Amino acid sequence: MNKIFLLFIYLIVFQSVSAQKDQAADQQPKMDWWGDKDGMLNEQARLSLQMASDVLKKYQPAVDESPERKMALLLIDNVLHDEKANLRPAVQDFFIERYENTIREIHDLKVENGVVIWKLYNHSFVVKTPSVTIGFDIQRSFEGKDGYILKKKVVRELIDQVDILFVTHRHADHSDEWVAETFIEQNKPVITPPDMWPDSKVYKFVLHPERKIDFVQEINLPAKGIKIKAVIYPGHQGKNIPDNVYLVFTPEGVTLAHTGDQSNQEDFSWIDKVGDKFKVDVLMVNAWTVSPDLRLPKGFRPKLIIPGHENELGHTVDHREPYWLNPVRFGNFRTLPWVELFWGEKYSYHPATERK
Ligand SMILES: [Zn+2]
Ligand SMILES: [Zn+2]
Repeated sequence: MNKIFLLFIYLIVFQSVSAQKDQAADQQPKMDWWGDKDGMLNEQARLSLQMASDVLKKYQPAVDESPERKMALLLIDNVLHDEKANLRPAVQDFFIERYENTIREIHDLKVENGVVIWKLYNHSFVVKTPSVTIGFDIQRSFEGKDGYILKKKVVRELIDQVDILFVTHRHADHSDEWVAETFIEQNKPVITPPDMWPDSKVYKFVLHPERKIDFVQEINLPAKGIKIKAVIYPGHQGKNIPDNVYLVFTPEGVTLAHTGDQSNQEDFSWIDKVGDKFKVDVLMVNAWTVSPDLRLPKGFRPKLIIPGHENELGHTVDHREPYWLNPVRFGNFRTLPWVELFWGEKYSYHPATERK
């Protein structure tokens, strides 16, 4: 009997010691990744993104960009131009964490004057003024194996902070029917071109203001009790896809332009003259459409350009627009000032202090 009891005690002690040993082994850093290519690239992505993020925190977005910031953005390009970047847990976790932090920041930051502009992802921007928060092309980001990376609960927390949504066009990297529906549930206006979601129940609740050159319209924000003025330019992606190019006048007098995926030669007939009619403060432009010779930004003549659409992970690598192409496309910042933002970064724009 005693022997059996001793054996029993021995087994318990042995098992718990070996469990502790396993645990200790788990805590050891992995010394090689042989036979695990994806594991290795995932770990490399995790460390690269963390390092880049630490550097970006120290070197904030600025028109005159430091070499440290450029290097961090180049490191990010390198990670995101891995064909499988959208599927790597390190990329997904990093993105979700930044997105959630940004929502908290949008909520907490009190804007006293000027505007604060956040880039969330791709061409999704949120602009907060002292009186209103405006969203452009908000969608649930890129897809992983099981649909969108961002859960509805997270994106709803963002929508709770935003008073109005401008959607440029129907492509999924810019628009999301569920997002539009959620804005409408909260009695907040959603503006799109007329061809979007015609068979959906949201269609009749979405606003389709006239797409008309230089025509200033008022949009009512019933939940806020205010109106916002905007011009809805009749833009296009290619010849056939309607793309609303927005000029939005904030109640405090800052003029914001957002181009979506504007890219149609014939539209230069009005694009060339936008700056004659209006004083544009900030132009959020799709980075890939500016050439040749910056014709699109020159039409708007903004005080500041913020390029968008970098590293859209739903695209193949050749169209995941790299940060390193921005200086090639936008040139010397002294000609037209521009500032590039990574996911979740913000820029505070003050019309009075911005360089002329
Ligand atoms: Zn598009
Ligand atoms: Zn796009």
